[in-house]
Amino acid sequence: MSAPAGSPQRAASTRIQPKLGGVAASGAAAGPGPAPHQQNVADSLSCPVTQNVQPPKSSPVVSTAVSGASSARLPPTANHLVEPVASVTQPSELLQQKGMQYGEYVNNQASSAPTPLSSTSDDEEEEEEDEEAGIDSSSTTSSASPLPNSYDALEGGGYPDMLSSSASSPAPDPAPEPDPTPAPVPTAPQPSKVAKPFGYGYPTLQPGYQNAAAPLHSGGQPGSAAYSGFQQYAQQYPGMNQLSSSLGGLSLQSSVQPESLRPVNLTQERNILPMTPVLAPVPNLNLDLKKLNCSPDSFRCTLTNIPQTQALLTKAKLPLGLLLHPFRDLTQLPVITSNTIVRCRSCRTYINPFVSFIDQRRWKCNLCYRVNDVPEEFMYNPLTRSYGEPHKRPEVQNSTVEFIASSDYMLRPPQPAVYLFVLDVSHNAVEAGYLTILCQSLLENLDKLPGDSRTRIGFVTFDSTIHFYNLQEGLSQPQMLIVSDIDDVFLPTPDSLLVNLHESKELIKDLLNALPNMFTNTRETHSALGPALQAAFKLMSPTGGRVSVFQTQLPSLGAGLLQSREDPNQRSSTKVVQHLGPATDFYKKLALDCSGQQTAVDLFLLSSQYSDLSSLACMSKYSAGCIYYYPSFHSTHNPSQAEKLQKELKRYLTRKIGFEAVMRIRCTKGLSMHTFHGNFFVRSTDLLSLANINPDAGFAVQLSIEESLTDTSLVCFQTALLYTSSKGERRIRVHTLCLPVVSSLADVYAGVDVQAAICLLANMAVDRSISTSLSDARDALVNAVVDSLSAYSSTVSHLQHSVLIAPSSLKLFPLYVLALLKQKAFRTGTSTRLDDRVYAMCQIKCQPLVHLMKMIHPNLYRIDRLIDEGAIHVNDRVVPQPPIQKLSAEKLTREGAFLMDCGCVFYIWVGKSCDNTFIEDVLGYPNFASVPQKMTHLPELDTLSSERTRSFVTWLRDSRPLSPVLHVVKDESPAKTEFFQHLIEDRTEAAFSYYEFLLHIQQQICK
Ligand SMILES: [Zn+2]
Repeated sequence: MSAPAGSPQRAASTRIQPKLGGVAASGAAAGPGPAPHQQNVADSLSCPVTQNVQPPKSSPVVSTAVSGASSARLPPTANHLVEPVASVTQPSELLQQKGMQYGEYVNNQASSAPTPLSSTSDDEEEEEEDEEAGIDSSSTTSSASPLPNSYDALEGGGYPDMLSSSASSPAPDPAPEPDPTPAPVPTAPQPSKVAKPFGYGYPTLQPGYQNAAAPLHSGGQPGSAAYSGFQQYAQQYPGMNQLSSSLGGLSLQSSVQPESLRPVNLTQERNILPMTPVLAPVPNLNLDLKKLNCSPDSFRCTLTNIPQTQALLTKAKLPLGLLLHPFRDLTQLPVITSNTIVRCRSCRTYINPFVSFIDQRRWKCNLCYRVNDVPEEFMYNPLTRSYGEPHKRPEVQNSTVEFIASSDYMLRPPQPAVYLFVLDVSHNAVEAGYLTILCQSLLENLDKLPGDSRTRIGFVTFDSTIHFYNLQEGLSQPQMLIVSDIDDVFLPTPDSLLVNLHESKELIKDLLNALPNMFTNTRETHSALGPALQAAFKLMSPTGGRVSVFQTQLPSLGAGLLQSREDPNQRSSTKVVQHLGPATDFYKKLALDCSGQQTAVDLFLLSSQYSDLSSLACMSKYSAGCIYYYPSFHSTHNPSQAEKLQKELKRYLTRKIGFEAVMRIRCTKGLSMHTFHGNFFVRSTDLLSLANINPDAGFAVQLSIEESLTDTSLVCFQTALLYTSSKGERRIRVHTLCLPVVSSLADVYAGVDVQAAICLLANMAVDRSISTSLSDARDALVNAVVDSLSAYSSTVSHLQHSVLIAPSSLKLFPLYVLALLKQKAFRTGTSTRLDDRVYAMCQIKCQPLVHLMKMIHPNLYRIDRLIDEGAIHVNDRVVPQPPIQKLSAEKLTREGAFLMDCGCVFYIWVGKSCDNTFIEDVLGYPNFASVPQKMTHLPELDTLSSERTRSFVTWLRDSRPLSPVLHVVKDESPAKTEFFQHLIEDRTEAAFSYYEFLLHIQQQICK
């Protein structure tokens, strides 16, 4: 399978064909090699943007010229172009689910029964496995190329390389390796070696785990070979008593109860919200494993103590699943270049800190327990330049690593970064004025687009017709080519529409400077979005890449046209919320076609009117794109939205990007994954197809326990994300998370990660809202609280139902669920525009936990008395850290000013009697009365309190990809309604207060 490094093209093309199936034909047709008629048309259409051009006599003119350009219609000869949408056979996908029952296996695969991870019986599985599999470690070694081992700097697009000098210095040629066959002669363990066992420093290791004692182990217990590695962990924690003594942690049998199990009387304890941010619970592992474990910022589990059996999980009534942020920006990332990427021969797990070394030559997989050979190359450690210490290799010392992959991990040579912009230029779009902001932003960031010398870029604009731009190097100015046959879209000059960014830079700049004014006088109100997307698909098919679509209204022409489905009178309905699902499968089908050609479609919806986001969003959901939404966007009437767009575009255009990606999550034998959440397409049982991956994308996955985990005390999860970097490198980012297994219900409760649980529940509730109904999803959320607290009361706390008790680990659960019920996505009885609701649901499905939590439960701070005490220092700036207040009006004193951080919007509420010094020093007005009703900026004033406030706001703002709009809200101004809606603990017309909600829960439990 391994192609020679010099000529991977042939191997790639023979392998990619079968996968593309029916879509391949259309891709090929749209690819290079223009048909004669196309060439003809191209010539006849070629016209400088700024000049009037006569249409060819042979081509009937169909549309009027826009801004000096003419348009022409292609003779209807394009019927050999296979219509991609018609040819698609809809593959199975996982975005639907049965319900919110926890841990139950929901088999969403239409075609196949749940397949064990290691299975490769299914043909498609085999093929997909191939793509991410690479080649077996043992076989790579023999065909090793002479690449030296080295630790590359991080590639561009993210943070600068901050690896230590030792990590970034390339290792010497592997030549000076010592004797390649060191005999594992057992020697008497040196005292230092006893303390420093193989792998990592376990202070209390069993003999079999230690370096010197390896032969003893392998010879001593032949009968238990298959599981012996894990039994060593088991031996380490033989029982609950020892667990508590050795780990100082969990066991209920010990006299000291862990804080996470402290019973909290919810109705009595009114101040349950901590004043500092809620942190992820640290899994109860020994110190060395803790140190090695994956950061919760990348990888979290709803239960940090994994129940031993499904029965135990079912009893706990808690959701089990993972929350992932796999491609987040990292300041430190070990990047490994190695001929041999060491993986388990059986389940393909990447070697990681939680495997066990039986001896120097063998390691046992921590997911399937297979014993694997340590390949020769792995014996050399490029970091320490020493030999014979495979356990010190960076792959075994870091739970997050990135590998530079060989051609074995490619289906075709890595493609260049390709960016296509598809822009609405209808009257509505021109009136909204987004083009100026977009073009300006692109001009400013053109050199910062992630990529290399091969980067390509293209532009398509559309109204009732589709306009292409020939930007081929050598032209004196860009040429606009108009295709008005939207029923049968063709590409006028396929070869010159996506051009090399560097070679055609001047033409691109000319176009970006001209675009905002080209359509100023248009009267074209129609929007042929669907046909424009079909054209984009054809244009991108040969390479794949990223399509950025800017849309400002309901598509009204051609394929994929939509009609308004929103009844404004129903916006505050307490009963049925309709049309949460798409009106047509056009966008989903197109997205699946795009995904098949490694193209992701990102949607920017800038609209003041209903635009059926639930239908449009499908183009991004299934192609692994992202969705941006700017309601009531107007570049001049709504300056804060305009600024938001500009800031978010900057992040969007310059952030890191991965292409041609697939992600697979593996877990310890016995556990099984079912429903996945996020923007992607599930290609085979558990392989997520991601045409693009970006650092702001989050994912979630639900788990069940298929076989009991009694033989093990630890389980692991591993995410492998294989992608092509913008510089054309094939890379694999691997995260591995290790968690303990517990057998008692109390321990399960002790380990709840309440934020992860609430985020997973939110994802499940979105699916439920769309598949059944919003009210059903709301009921399910309430039941989640009722069931878990009821189960806890009756099995663990044994307290009477007359009080509502939660373990400390779950004390925020009812509050967070109430917050979800009041969130735009799920609220009823409060006027909510359908697109706003759908967008909130989209955000829930694809935001990483850290950002999603702010959206669910905002943070409230008092900011009129910021002090430096407890402040942190960031880049020479002092950032105050005021305590977090509970979300209730009772906290709002009229003498104060408060900042509410809702994730994508900030409110500063100013009390009527707020100190004039604050108003003057921070807001820049002499008194409360003179503060304007609409204020969206904090002025830069030369006062200490202004500096502190801005420093705090900037710090909050910098921590997220979406740029929040800031609203200064005066007490008693009409704008305060929005602000007060976020005071979750208070009663509203349509919803319980927190206290009432608790009583309701208690009532339900007593039933
Ligand atoms: Zn394995």
